[in-house]
Amino acid sequence: MSAQRKTAVVAIGGNSLILSKQHEDVASQWQAVQETCKNIATMIERDWNLIITHGNGPQVGFILRRNELAAHEVHATPLDLIGADTQGSIGYMIAQSLGNEFKQRGISRPIASVVTQVLVDREDPGFQDPTKGIGGFTTEEKAREFETDGWRVMEDAGRGWRRVIASPVPLKIVELEAIRTLVQSGYIVIGVGGGGIPVIEDESGNLVGTRAVIDKDRATSLLAQQLEVDLFLVSTAVPQVAINFNEPNQKWLGKMTADEARAYHAEGHFKPGSMGPKIEAVLSFLDAHPAGKVLITDPPNIARALDGESGTWIEA
Ligand code: ADP
Ligand code: MG
Repeated sequence: MSAQRKTAVVAIGGNSLILSKQHEDVASQWQAVQETCKNIATMIERDWNLIITHGNGPQVGFILRRNELAAHEVHATPLDLIGADTQGSIGYMIAQSLGNEFKQRGISRPIASVVTQVLVDREDPGFQDPTKGIGGFTTEEKAREFETDGWRVMEDAGRGWRRVIASPVPLKIVELEAIRTLVQSGYIVIGVGGGGIPVIEDESGNLVGTRAVIDKDRATSLLAQQLEVDLFLVSTAVPQVAINFNEPNQKWLGKMTADEARAYHAEGHFKPGSMGPKIEAVLSFLDAHPAGKVLITDPPNIARALDGESGTWIEA
């Protein structure tokens, strides 16, 4: 993209925002974001262009719970607005934390957070057969009350009943050119938060929000493909990717080819709902843009991983 600087998309996982169930309060959220931003600032010192994307699952859950508790007094927030709310609040936290870190280090780079819509197909099969659980678990009777508001509910693997929604394929990032222009102008951009706010086209071609959630790693991959970035960095809760993960013969991987990753994935080494979607997302990036590189690591290891001393590198 930019002539001199290399460009990276960094997807920060839930662990960069909330460390654990015991540390969900706002002060702990700030601490987690500030810690992650220290590690990201190191990339800026190395003169990268950066677009930061992030998850929002727990934050969406908190707002849904507040809706439930306040239903007798105030209208519920629709899911697309919850997406926009969390992009705003998390984008603010990252922008402020990163800006403060820049000031400490004498870095002068502008930062902008972009509320991002992502187009999905209203005929996406996910809408017929929703599978993505959202919000808290409850009894069947209580869950069924959500049905009056048009939610689908389901029993979730013995953990209780909860709402389920579609996780449609992201087709187009509505604010892509805005993000591109900002990056080309030297901005550090925060965007596509929570996978983007899912929107569909109605009969007249107007965009409208829809009750769905787009996988953050998939949406980040689309962004990385369309901007043809040099590096797709997945920042998550593990320093490296492993085969035989959590088994006695677990083996951490320093690097692999896309074909090796595909083969390991076919053998079931990357768990569905966690590492699996990340591997699928980075493989579709490498398929579309074979000159690109992929790095998977955790925030404290970003600098060492860029030096080839940690992390898992994947190349086409
Ligand atoms: P994020 O919030 O970043 O999306 P996830 O929890 O969804 O994080 O996915 C990352 C997690 O995937 C890791 O913390 C790890 O527990 C798990 N995981 C599953 N399979 C593997 C594997 N083969 N190698 C490393 N981590 C794995
Ligand atoms: Mg995840």
